[in-house]
Amino acid sequence: MIQRRVRTFLERMIKQKRVPVSLLFYGKEGVGKGNVAFEFAKALLCLNNLYPPCGNCSSCSHMDAFKKEPEENLAYYGEDKRGRKVFMYLQGEHPDFIYVKPDRSEIKIDQIRGVKEFVYLRPALSRKKVVLIEPADSMNPFSQNALLKVLEEPPEDTHFVLVSHNIDKVLPTIRSRSFLLEFPPLSLEEIKSLTGIDDPFILEFSGGSVNMALKLYEDREILEVALDILSGDILRLYRRSFEIEKWDYDRQALLLRLLEILLHRKVIEGKEEHRQALDRVVWGMEFLNRGIRLSILIFYVGLIGGEKDVLHKG
Ligand SMILES: [Zn+2]
Repeated sequence: MIQRRVRTFLERMIKQKRVPVSLLFYGKEGVGKGNVAFEFAKALLCLNNLYPPCGNCSSCSHMDAFKKEPEENLAYYGEDKRGRKVFMYLQGEHPDFIYVKPDRSEIKIDQIRGVKEFVYLRPALSRKKVVLIEPADSMNPFSQNALLKVLEEPPEDTHFVLVSHNIDKVLPTIRSRSFLLEFPPLSLEEIKSLTGIDDPFILEFSGGSVNMALKLYEDREILEVALDILSGDILRLYRRSFEIEKWDYDRQALLLRLLEILLHRKVIEGKEEHRQALDRVVWGMEFLNRGIRLSILIFYVGLIGGEKDVLHKG
């Protein structure tokens, strides 16, 4: 089972009945945060109060059904201030559980108003209610402030589980009111057993993320592009920089993430001179959807971060 250390910790919290009002699970994408968060929510609601959850009580069955149901069947709509119909969150048969996800690209303030209405109700089936917010960093600043107000007067019997792979985008005031739990990258063995991928090359470059391993498995060429960019060979760098300008957003984002993993490894190996290139990549990830010229950024990253021995370890 993945994330054993984190799960043991959560199990102890439930056993000792010392679960904070708000928990923030953070770590890289694809290290199991979402799955553990759902399992934890299920345990908090479990009528037998077990972690891992019993799986047999009516609360657990509702939670299992939630997982199986297509999202469009779970969407709950409410009204905004002007009475227009707006998406709020996902809710299945379980009356005490809601899952808040972005309405398109962000979690909007109307959604947090919906959360507020939910949290001040009494639990109907379980002893607690749980609000799972994923990804928490997709709440815009208005939403985060609205959530903060709720956390400042924590409603009885409700727990908030926030999931984020970009914790820097969560307001410090929300972070400070939440119990922070970091999810470390997965080991290569864990990724191998979860994905069935045994290509050592892909496992090595996955950065400890299941998502990354799966994406590289489907799009192996992108790994070659990343290695070309960091090869120290100007001609290859030049060709690749202009090629990626035509890619779609997802593939560009994946490339930046991969460059981040490769450069980060260099910095950890003590090659401080790569830090500048790494910083540029991280900056690029943040501004990618705001019309930056990716080709120029990548060319620059390759110039300052490229070297002949990019494949060498240690
Ligand atoms: Zn149960």
